[in-house]
Amino acid sequence: MSVPVRVRFAPSPTGYPHLGNIRTALFNWLFARHNNGVFILRIEDTDVARKVEGATEIIMESLQWLGLDWDEGPVFQSDRLDLYKMYARELVKEGRAYYCFCSPERLEVMRKEQMMRKQPPGYDRHCRDLTEQQVDSLMTEGKVPVVRFKSPLKGQTVVTDLIRGEVVFENSTLDDFVLLKSDGYPTYHLANIVDDHYMNISHVLRAEEWLSSTPRHVLLYSALGWQPPQFAHLPMILGPDKSKLSKRHSATAINEYQNQGYLPEAMVNFLTLLGWSLDDKTEIMSREEIIKNFSIERVSRTAAVFNVAKLEWMNGMYIRALNVEDFAKRSLPFVEQGLPPGIKRPVDTDYLRLIAPLVQERARTLAEVPQLVDFFFVNELQYDSEMLMGKLDKGQAVSILSQTIDTLKKLDAWETESMEEAVRPLVAESGLKAGPFFGVIRVAVTGRTASPPLFQTMEVLGRERSMQRLGAALSRFIS
Ligand code: GLU
Repeated sequence: MSVPVRVRFAPSPTGYPHLGNIRTALFNWLFARHNNGVFILRIEDTDVARKVEGATEIIMESLQWLGLDWDEGPVFQSDRLDLYKMYARELVKEGRAYYCFCSPERLEVMRKEQMMRKQPPGYDRHCRDLTEQQVDSLMTEGKVPVVRFKSPLKGQTVVTDLIRGEVVFENSTLDDFVLLKSDGYPTYHLANIVDDHYMNISHVLRAEEWLSSTPRHVLLYSALGWQPPQFAHLPMILGPDKSKLSKRHSATAINEYQNQGYLPEAMVNFLTLLGWSLDDKTEIMSREEIIKNFSIERVSRTAAVFNVAKLEWMNGMYIRALNVEDFAKRSLPFVEQGLPPGIKRPVDTDYLRLIAPLVQERARTLAEVPQLVDFFFVNELQYDSEMLMGKLDKGQAVSILSQTIDTLKKLDAWETESMEEAVRPLVAESGLKAGPFFGVIRVAVTGRTASPPLFQTMEVLGRERSMQRLGAALSRFIS
């Protein structure tokens, strides 16, 4: 009989979650949803020195932004200190762990000597064989011990990993790691396995960097007489140069992507492909499709390479697929924030809704939208006359502008088709090519040489604003 799937995301609240953390959360969530299982959020906050105020909220907001809802939690390890202490003591009682009274100074000297002798670092087991009387008398002296696990000195520990198969560790390489610190807080190893056991975690999906901790966990499970969960260590995420992903390559904190105008659904799709694939070609997949197909079997063993250009491309695809209302709505906060300060706030949402279809095709991120739309909002365009003329001369530009103004003035309806119908014949009459001809009008009404389709732009800008801009362009030459 298969066990019900219960997985957890267990971040330490040390700051903004980075892409690797979120990829771990996502894979756990996908695995839970695929198997109708339970996804638990557990905050591993027992490292008091590294704890950052507000980090838990940020983690939760990031998960919510991506739609990774949790079924249980958040559970805080700091609320469960007694539980860990109880097991640390029990392990001591059973001879599977021991009190260690070594001072930080002694450990420092030991470390230095090991380094000098080029020995691998690790506790030298100084206190491993203290007698009960020795322990008692040190305690009575007021010395506060840590609790260390008594790792086997010989033999091997085998970790069975769903992605990597059997990974064998020599016990001689595992030192007597600390379970309980002198401040009464558990280490990651102890708290992590006590909780995984207590929460009935069926599968542990976590980053590969934790693989080296797993033999310790396997030994702890067996010392406590517990059945370990199944392990799956997810491949590393590397930068394009194949070194570990870092700020040098791209933003690493997930909220930066949110601020840069990436859509959560694009992020989910993109992060899914950092270590998992449906086949060797499919890139764009809906959340439902991913959930339906997600499996550990298709998680790759080899590192995933983060490619920001691919993320931009994918985000552009997702932006284009939004319906236009949604696109306008999601762009609004970016537009509010990104338009020049002189422009009236709040931004006119009806107007933005009309602009939206003209720029949706061209935005790769929502943060690009303000620059694509700002000319719709500004009162005065900034451009120089050279740009306005392009390859034409002053006389030609004047004639194009004045003829266009005269023609448009006579129009009843300020609509794309009627404008186009009225202005097109002027091109033929002028003997110029359409490109330079419309180039003049384009710069006059948008202040730039590339813009959304000209007449649609003018329709949205409205008669008054468009005529005013054409007039302003003309007056540069004939004032
Ligand atoms: N607290 C660990 C982390 O920050 C959890 C690792 C695990 O999943 O066991 O990633």
